[in-house]
Amino acid sequence: MKYRYLSDCHTHSDCSRDASDPTMMLCECACRLGLYALTITDHCECNVYEEDGYDRSVRQSYFEARKASAVFHGRLHVRAGVEIGQPMQNLAAAEEILDACDFDFVLASVHNVRGMPDFYELDYSQVDITKVLHLYFDEILETIEWGKFDSLAHLTYPWRYIVGEHGLAIDNAQFSGRIDEVLKALIKKGKALEVNTSGLRQKLGDTMPNLPIVERYHELGGKLITLGSDAHRWPDVCGGVEQGMELIKKAGFTHFSLYSHHEPKLLPIE
Ligand SMILES: [Zn+2]
Ligand SMILES: [Zn+2]
Repeated sequence: MKYRYLSDCHTHSDCSRDASDPTMMLCECACRLGLYALTITDHCECNVYEEDGYDRSVRQSYFEARKASAVFHGRLHVRAGVEIGQPMQNLAAAEEILDACDFDFVLASVHNVRGMPDFYELDYSQVDITKVLHLYFDEILETIEWGKFDSLAHLTYPWRYIVGEHGLAIDNAQFSGRIDEVLKALIKKGKALEVNTSGLRQKLGDTMPNLPIVERYHELGGKLITLGSDAHRWPDVCGGVEQGMELIKKAGFTHFSLYSHHEPKLLPIE
């Protein structure tokens, strides 16, 4: 293992509807890879909170992570986290689950904008992409203003589908002002930026966000970075995280963050 504190801070167990493996299996895999820490961050899609049973599955995920933390004590640091999707679309749900579980780490994400399906399911021939992306940045900014999370997950998520899956071009320069707004808001609120490495395993072939954005965050004075594979099955645990470490180092960072009880611990990239 190249990095002493190699950690994966974004993983899904079978308590997420779209993932397949139990927490224990993910932890066993992390142990075998020699990871320092593993954070379980199952989905809580606030816009469909009750109808899709997240009120129950997230509580279960929390208990599974705490149980695994006891079982793997001395071998692996296991943290209990959650990925809160679209909190602004159902604030009551987001706040209920955050009150119910004493999470170490909360990721906030936007997988769809109000009244539209997930970017994964959008029919891009039927929408004004520029307009939808502005709505995406608007909702991210609202989420940061709300602020009940630790790290912003996979900024540029729509790129995974628009550019990666559909091969459509986006003029990134057109959105540099919006990206700056997001990065400045994160810094002002003391929130971390996640570098999500799942795109490296997918058609996008890049991290979300990519190097220029991480460099910009550093240039603006950002200090807190979290790294996550977004694994939905055991073979993807820690997938691309070492490349992610190299990328943040290239962007000028000497440390990344690991959260316990919402407090970041800055671990050196060594
Ligand atoms: Zn996500
Ligand atoms: Zn995820």
